[in-house]
Amino acid sequence: MSQQTFSCEQQEALKRDALAYILPHFADNAELAKGPKVFVRGEGCYLYDMEGNRYLDTFASLLTTICGHHRPEIKAAVLAQMDRLEFFPNYVDTFTVPLIELARKLAEIMPGELSVTSFVNSGSEANETAMKMARQYHRQRGQPQRYKIVARRHSYHGMTLGGISATGLRWFHECFEPLMPGFAFAPAARCCQCELERKYPDCQLACLRAMENLIDFEGPESVAAVIMDPLPGSNIGYPLPPEGYLRGVRELCDKHGILLVFDEVQSGFGKTGKWFFCEHSGVIPDIMTIGKGFTGGYMPLGAAVTTPKVADVFRRDPGCEFRNGSTYGGHTLACAATLANIGIIERDNLVERAAKLGARLRTALEKLYKYPLVGDVRGIGLLWAVELLADRQSGRKLDPQWGVGSFIRQWCWEHGMILRNNGDILVTAPALVIRDEEIDFMVHTLDDALAAASGKFSKP
Ligand code: PMP
Repeated sequence: MSQQTFSCEQQEALKRDALAYILPHFADNAELAKGPKVFVRGEGCYLYDMEGNRYLDTFASLLTTICGHHRPEIKAAVLAQMDRLEFFPNYVDTFTVPLIELARKLAEIMPGELSVTSFVNSGSEANETAMKMARQYHRQRGQPQRYKIVARRHSYHGMTLGGISATGLRWFHECFEPLMPGFAFAPAARCCQCELERKYPDCQLACLRAMENLIDFEGPESVAAVIMDPLPGSNIGYPLPPEGYLRGVRELCDKHGILLVFDEVQSGFGKTGKWFFCEHSGVIPDIMTIGKGFTGGYMPLGAAVTTPKVADVFRRDPGCEFRNGSTYGGHTLACAATLANIGIIERDNLVERAAKLGARLRTALEKLYKYPLVGDVRGIGLLWAVELLADRQSGRKLDPQWGVGSFIRQWCWEHGMILRNNGDILVTAPALVIRDEEIDFMVHTLDDALAAASGKFSKP
């Protein structure tokens, strides 16, 4: 591996220019003020910064690098493809071999009839594609009035205008309003903080009934699709849907001829101990969107995968084709990298491994309840959230001004660990290849950070 070294002057110049010339994605000016972090090398679950410090990454970069950094198999696959053909677009009637092989592989690993893929570059584009696909599908079947999209509060579906219009978290869209028309929001299915103030199972799935009422109110014949993250993501800390909820949503969609879109951009590719989260419930959508861990983080790639029933509507006659595409969607090198990434997951049984490691992680994380600060520990597989609360019993939140979550993140950073927090929700999503001793280090570091936070924030 080629190693770069940087003089103090070079380090200073890189940090200065990072701030001068880049607007980071979802920047946090308070964090940036502490100085930009510049990474230069990755190996397995570790990252190295310019100063040569090593960090255990507990979030697989951004839920992406699921087979770890610096995999020779992926590098070799990309280089071999680069030698043959670096890129040709998937336009009109042209394909490349890695693209076809990847589509074939997806048809094999995807649940149910999901087998026909439209390739894009990111998770946001995958969701745009899914929503456009749903609208054109109905239009082509003689129901152009079906244009509405039912989404859910507290869900995230991407940074594009369509993506934020489907996103039920105000922070992501309040600066960009007015949003696209035609979106309606059902409540989240989040038992740990039920917004309907009900308790499962006495509630008899009040969140599902609320979605049904919303669809009735909007007019079922006007709804094109329901889009949801079956396991909501790191923004709200992986609340598992209550038993029967996803099945109920499927039935609701079937009853009204509405397409069901599952956004598994975050939860797909083994992280929950199954290839896809929806397999835990056996509920299969009409369109599934994927991204992030799909490529192992080596190249950008996203996709919307659908069934022949939906896809055939676009392949009948000239004129009915799906009107969607982008220059680089399904980039040849990205497909080669992704095939190699999936090859590693299959060869090393990493999905089963994630399920086993998840059980170990759960036991370890639940021990953190010894801190009164720890309000809720929840998750599945390798996706876990530790939500900090002022009072576990009542669910009262901490004063966000205290910045307890940020304190813990910073503490971990100073002790060699990258931890992601969303306010006072700490989230972990390590690579599927994380080793037992690395999981132990992760939980010990978190434990020590919580001890430090408990000392600091319990004082008047
Ligand atoms: N959907 C979900 C559930 C996500 O977590 C994300 C990314 N955080 C996206 C969509 C958007 O993906 P991208 O950032 O690749 O556009």
